[in-house]
Amino acid sequence: MKTEVISTVRREDAGTQLGAELIREGGLVAFPTETVYGLGANGMDGEAVNRIFEAKGRPNDNPLILHIAKKSDVKLLWAHVPKLANVLMDTFWPGPLTMIFNKADEVPYEVTAGLETVAVRMPSDKTARMLIQKAGVPIAAPSANRSGRPSPTTAEHVLADMDGRIPLILDGGPCKYGVESTVLSLVGEPTILRPGAVTREMLEAVIGPVKLAPSILNPLGEREVAASPGMKYKHYAPDAEVHVVEGEPKLAAKRIRTLCYAYESEGKRVAILGTEQTMPSYRNLNAYSLGDRDEPETLCANLFRLLRDVGSEVDVILAEGVDPKDTGLAFMNRLLRAAGFSHESV
Ligand code: AMP
Ligand code: MG
Repeated sequence: MKTEVISTVRREDAGTQLGAELIREGGLVAFPTETVYGLGANGMDGEAVNRIFEAKGRPNDNPLILHIAKKSDVKLLWAHVPKLANVLMDTFWPGPLTMIFNKADEVPYEVTAGLETVAVRMPSDKTARMLIQKAGVPIAAPSANRSGRPSPTTAEHVLADMDGRIPLILDGGPCKYGVESTVLSLVGEPTILRPGAVTREMLEAVIGPVKLAPSILNPLGEREVAASPGMKYKHYAPDAEVHVVEGEPKLAAKRIRTLCYAYESEGKRVAILGTEQTMPSYRNLNAYSLGDRDEPETLCANLFRLLRDVGSEVDVILAEGVDPKDTGLAFMNRLLRAAGFSHESV
């Protein structure tokens, strides 16, 4: 299959008519969102949804998110709309917040991986919304990477993983946030299953106390059941091995320099992912800045791109960790998983 790439940078609706036709026919289309690129199919067609799992090599017990273009469509997908959801939709939709609630009968089990609940989000990206509107159905879409790899934040990343496997990629340029949406379960007490750009603090300002799933910064215990099935799989792994050093920035940078020399003396190629604050400590080393420690959203925006681009050129990536607060939590959730939880504190 030949994969066509159509740029939507100058015309947001470019390719969305063709994309909508492909979706209605049961095909797959990769498209930009404000978080990461999605790999979409008709969310009400179980067979079409199965093609997503095939193209990604995704385990079929890992459920998908349904993307809608207008808030009221959530009524078609959930058994009913809980009160809390209304205020959250009014505050954060369209945007990077996914909410989970009991599914309506019409939602196929292929989307929910057999669960009785379904995840729904309304993206803010204009191309994404036009594609959904023109398709006239909710679009089921996980991130458009091969399963286990870092999520794609550019169309080039999607092409690297999906060339020849899907007919169409809509190219909207680099994604604004660069990490996937916040996933909030509204079944029982509101609980964040996956942190994102809509932070716990932002949610609590609107609805009061919100819990964090324990697996956000930790690997799942052996007998623990994943609240969010995606959490149990190897995730975001670049080609290189990743190790994370947390702690006071100057001390972390010193430890990273020591580790870097040790790996290089073994003949390994090393890259350092530092921050603006510590870049002077890495002069003459192969170091890249993730962004500004005081603005963790900048770290989120660059993480997956650097993991992919740098990861294909070296054997080892040494990365700085930051405080897991505000959007730093989303950053650390992805970075620790990319490292397979290989980390230390200084
Ligand atoms: P991705 O599509 O790669 O962004 O992954 C979607 C994430 O949402 C995965 O981690 C899923 O486990 C999670 N998710 C989707 N639907 C549900 C659900 N019904 N219950 C719990 N987690 C879900
Ligand atoms: Mg994913």
